[in-house]
Amino acid sequence: MASRRICFQCHGAVPIENDAGELRYKVFGDPNGLQCGSRTSHLLPVVIKGKNGAEVVACKGFPYTAQYLEGQPRDGPAYLYFGFLEVRIRNAYQQLQDIAKKNVDKNNPSSEKS
Ligand SMILES: [Zn+2]
Repeated sequence: MASRRICFQCHGAVPIENDAGELRYKVFGDPNGLQCGSRTSHLLPVVIKGKNGAEVVACKGFPYTAQYLEGQPRDGPAYLYFGFLEVRIRNAYQQLQDIAKKNVDKNNPSSEKS
């Protein structure tokens, strides 16, 4: 089991499928300040249910990278959007989802798909 990775923004645990540092490492092969030991950031925003049932954004994620994923808002004009990165980032994101799925299968070999 890999060491637990913590979001530098919200200090919550970061699962592999939402790990901005790991994704950027796969795309750029460069730490970019995120893939540094256990320190990383959530990729997509983390939304939790507050006490009154309302949704609360616990972490804004890493919109600079998340904007390249399908269905995510482009955060322009704050963040430049490079078209040539879109395929590379989406492929890397899919790899993270595949890794996460393998981890689930490995931990719960008898689990059934819903
Ligand atoms: Zn976070």
